[in-house]
Amino acid sequence: MNTNTTLELLIDGRSLRISPDLLRNYNQPAPRYTSYPTAPEWDEGFRETDLRQAFQQANARRPAAPISLYFHIPFCESLCLYCGCNVVINKNHEAAAPYLERLKQEIDSVGYEVSSERPVEQIHWGGGTPTYLSPDQIESLFSHIRSRFSISDTAEIGVEVDPRVTTDDHLRTMRRMGFNRISMGIQDFDSLVQKTIHRIQSVDATERLVEFSRGLGFESINIDLIYGLPHQTVDTFADTVDKVIGLAPDRIAVFSYAHVPWMKKQQGSFEKHLPDGVEKFRIFSRAIEKLTEAGYRYIGLDHFALPKDEISRAQDERTLHRNFQGYTTRRGCELYGMGVSAISGLDNVYAQNSRDLTGYYEAIDSGRWPTMRGFRVSDEDKLRRSVINRILCHCVVLKGEVEDEFGINFDEFFATELNRLRELEQDQLVRLERDRVEVEGLGRIFIRNVAMIFDAYLTQHHEEGARKFSTSL
Ligand code: SF4
Repeated sequence: MNTNTTLELLIDGRSLRISPDLLRNYNQPAPRYTSYPTAPEWDEGFRETDLRQAFQQANARRPAAPISLYFHIPFCESLCLYCGCNVVINKNHEAAAPYLERLKQEIDSVGYEVSSERPVEQIHWGGGTPTYLSPDQIESLFSHIRSRFSISDTAEIGVEVDPRVTTDDHLRTMRRMGFNRISMGIQDFDSLVQKTIHRIQSVDATERLVEFSRGLGFESINIDLIYGLPHQTVDTFADTVDKVIGLAPDRIAVFSYAHVPWMKKQQGSFEKHLPDGVEKFRIFSRAIEKLTEAGYRYIGLDHFALPKDEISRAQDERTLHRNFQGYTTRRGCELYGMGVSAISGLDNVYAQNSRDLTGYYEAIDSGRWPTMRGFRVSDEDKLRRSVINRILCHCVVLKGEVEDEFGINFDEFFATELNRLRELEQDQLVRLERDRVEVEGLGRIFIRNVAMIFDAYLTQHHEEGARKFSTSL
């Protein structure tokens, strides 16, 4: 293939022609902005007492405001070689019991600090693999959560499942406990790709699980795919996308494979089989075309949803929000994370728990909170975070809305940023109007590059920051 051929992409009904040079120019390390400031800026001097104080202040500031809860189950039976998550590989499921004991203690401590007047509107179990737990353990953990927090009747309760280790009993138990959303990892159905990444998963078994979940009444089914994996080609991935469309999930996430071998050494094993940046773009472009042709709406970054899904409606109404689990319709809910490596995100504070089990256990066993780092968000951070959120969630920043919320003159405050955006406008990533900044065309794919313009920390530590993030494609 001639890698210098101009690329074509159909997006939002518009046909775009892109030169490989332009593509290379934008395919740079970029944060995913699940938080702003991003985690590399957080401070290890931020400790338990700071977090306790932040929780107490949050109760005082917003005594009846809804909240979200996140629980991290770190265990997996085997390691998928592409994995960038914080996981503990252990085939022996006895490892789960001592972890759950500590997690319940942490739930007690956090539950004690969070006002019972604050309804829980969203719960998410992630990992790792939450269905590494037995159905009995799932029931016991969920009952414990229910006893310590006020879960709203309309709460969105979701769980990540790995179809390879999820049984009918798991699903029945979770549904009975009140889980109503399920997210399944697939990544790719191609057999060579699966073999290379050490994740063998058949179409039939996945289809069965989707059907069974639907029959139990899970309201929303999400499927995760990854593009840019070793041995993937445009055609093989298009075939996977077709099979997933056949399963008719409500949402589909097509994540960019994050190649970070300096952090995840096992990724080096297949480096020579990875598609290059141009091929990776072709793979994703074809996936976008297939999904949009099939009626899915491109929400942004890596998310697609059926038009009837509430995430699509929230984007139209500009109420969509982003947190550590990705896009969410529960805007404004402060997030309390529990479990090893879990992150909390309040209005003015971020905090993360110890990332290794030993540190987590030591803290809990000695009666401390396992906080390992955090960040106090300044007023300017909040302003920039709001602009970045608007870009990623709504693809438009209405200057008047930001001015009303933060009492600034947008054009004066962001004069440097608007100047830098002009270059992106020439490349057709954004359109600059008197009253707005609108993301369009190629900017929908390189939306992280648009958001980066408003990141004050990247500008400050540009060189240092470059290595911390995966590339934007
Ligand atoms: S199942 Fe998920 S979390 Fe576990 S190793 Fe595989 S990709 Fe990572």
